[in-house]
Amino acid sequence: MNKKLYVISGSSGVGKGTVLKEFLKQNPDFMLSISCTTRAPREGEIDGVNYFFMTKDDFKNCIDNDKFLEWAEFAGNFYGTKKKFINQCLADGKNIILEIDTQGALQVKKQMPEAVLIFICPPSLEALENRLRGRHTEDESAIQKRLEAVKEELARAENFDYKIVNDDLKRAVCELEMIISEEQKKC
Ligand code: ADP
Ligand code: 5GP
Repeated sequence: MNKKLYVISGSSGVGKGTVLKEFLKQNPDFMLSISCTTRAPREGEIDGVNYFFMTKDDFKNCIDNDKFLEWAEFAGNFYGTKKKFINQCLADGKNIILEIDTQGALQVKKQMPEAVLIFICPPSLEALENRLRGRHTEDESAIQKRLEAVKEELARAENFDYKIVNDDLKRAVCELEMIISEEQKKC
């Protein structure tokens, strides 16, 4: 398979979504995978656009029926990528980007070694916490769960193909564009 599957991962609040939004503005031909989750929608999130929101029972049903390319429990909720969507995009020759947690990213690499894994690092732990809190999307208990995951997530960065420090947003987006453009040349 061509190297057309990119996985962007990193701790919650590091800026994955923000970096990707900027990248996709400049590169609209890349498809962003829509994940399934049991998390409740945030204000403004739309089912089928931001996520496919599911009950835990439905999610477990999908696991039992082997519907996911990868899935993980993160900070008390389940998240997963449906195989069907990814396989269809690849069959259509589309470039796909997954924005998923570090556990899921490593599962993808196991199944698709040609996938390109990109880890977004925070400039500091303090900046990460400030961003997570500054987003005002989680309550204190959810923030704590997300912060508890950080150490393990940073340790997994060693297994990624590339690391980008999201200090200055423009620079981080530029770095992502350079990495992907180089990888596309290998296709
Ligand atoms: P993630 O998708 O990794 O959970 P978000 O993209 O939601 O993170 O970003 C978390 C917060 O950090 C948002 O409020 C966003 O505006 C902010 N942010 C993202 N990148 C930067 C950056 N380079 N500098 C400062 N703030 C940033
Ligand atoms: P959030 O609740 O902030 O939208 O997402 C929490 C974490 O789940 C983020 O790190 C996000 O990248 C990750 N995530 C989103 N979709 C998926 C998915 O399909 N699979 C996995 N493993 N993680 C996901």
